[in-house]
Amino acid sequence: MDLYEHQARELFADHGIPVSAAAVALTPGEAREAAERLGGRVVVKAQVKTGGRGKAGGVKLAADPAAAELTARQILGVDIKGHTVRKVMLAETIDIDQEFYASYVLDRATGTFLAIASAEGGMEIEEVAATRPGAVARIPVDPARGVGEAEAMEIAVAAGLPAEAAPVLRGLWQVLVREDALLVEVNPLVRAVDGRILALDGKVTLDDNARFRQERWGEAIGDPAADPLEAVAAAKGLNYVKLDGEVGVIGNGAGLVMSTLDVVAGCGARPANFLDIGGGASAQVMADGLSVILSDPSVRSVFVNVFGGITACDAVAEGIVRALESVVLTKPLVVRLDGNNAARGREILTDRAHPLVQQVTTMDGAARQAAVLAHAE
Ligand code: GDP
Ligand code: MN
Repeated sequence: MDLYEHQARELFADHGIPVSAAAVALTPGEAREAAERLGGRVVVKAQVKTGGRGKAGGVKLAADPAAAELTARQILGVDIKGHTVRKVMLAETIDIDQEFYASYVLDRATGTFLAIASAEGGMEIEEVAATRPGAVARIPVDPARGVGEAEAMEIAVAAGLPAEAAPVLRGLWQVLVREDALLVEVNPLVRAVDGRILALDGKVTLDDNARFRQERWGEAIGDPAADPLEAVAAAKGLNYVKLDGEVGVIGNGAGLVMSTLDVVAGCGARPANFLDIGGGASAQVMADGLSVILSDPSVRSVFVNVFGGITACDAVAEGIVRALESVVLTKPLVVRLDGNNAARGREILTDRAHPLVQQVTTMDGAARQAAVLAHAE
């Protein structure tokens, strides 16, 4: 589970990492009041669970509370990479001397944690990592030893960060361990003109497998500003994940869904989301899933990719037919049914003969068709 920036920064503060003073606002009026409390000059930041907000116009400076209200009005409701902005964070404006990058991430390839840090942080970090990998230090962290004073200093030196940043590197490791996170990232970590070291942004991904021992996570899940579709899907017990593209993806089983995303990408389109209807999914689950996917405004076509096993294809087809009774289909649906009872499933859809539903028998062919339809005017 990814956290919003403001939630990540609250965790940072709990672990002694200095952050700029900030407040969250759901309306332009609240933004004005928050800016007044924060001293007037603020940065207004879209709270969406995606990176690159700065480049997408989701991070703006405001000179006074009236400007903060206006800026919040401009940012609230805007779509950033498929995520609607439902809240903004206002933070005191920091005069930045230098921007750094610091993170810890679970590296599944090497089976350990990695500290990644750079003295060239900020919005161009991906560019820096791609063109000058030497400017980004990558240091394995032994999880049994963790990051103490010596390890933190070692990371700081390797990355070219000032020694004053070492306590932040220790604090971030504490966040990772105590909060059961798989990723903690600060970009930018800054040295302010007045010399303070501050985390100005935060990304934290919590390990869902640790939910049983992390009671406080309940509050984050119950977040009223969360993506409403994710909330609807969660309430129906569906595994739905929002992505940035335009093709809605429904499949059964994690493996098939993941490869479906790859095949869609291979056809030059981008998945808008994906929904795994699981192994033993009923017609009702299919109907619920389809209505969730169709409610996502960034979806331009839907690819239903089912390999019938425990879930027989006729049950999936009946689910689609049932969904067509309750949802007005406004986007084309490409269905590929294979496996258990595929022939019966295809027959059910052929009989239904909905003008926006097409069937393609191969996965590649269906993905291509969904991509074509997503890009058609
Ligand atoms: P991201 O683009 O989603 O990673 O959003 P960030 O929170 O990292 O903000 C993008 C950029 O805005 C940062 O790299 C900073 O250059 C700038 N920025 C963010 N907060 C402040 C601030 O308090 N003061 C100043 N001067 N710039 C800021
Ligand atoms: Mn950032």
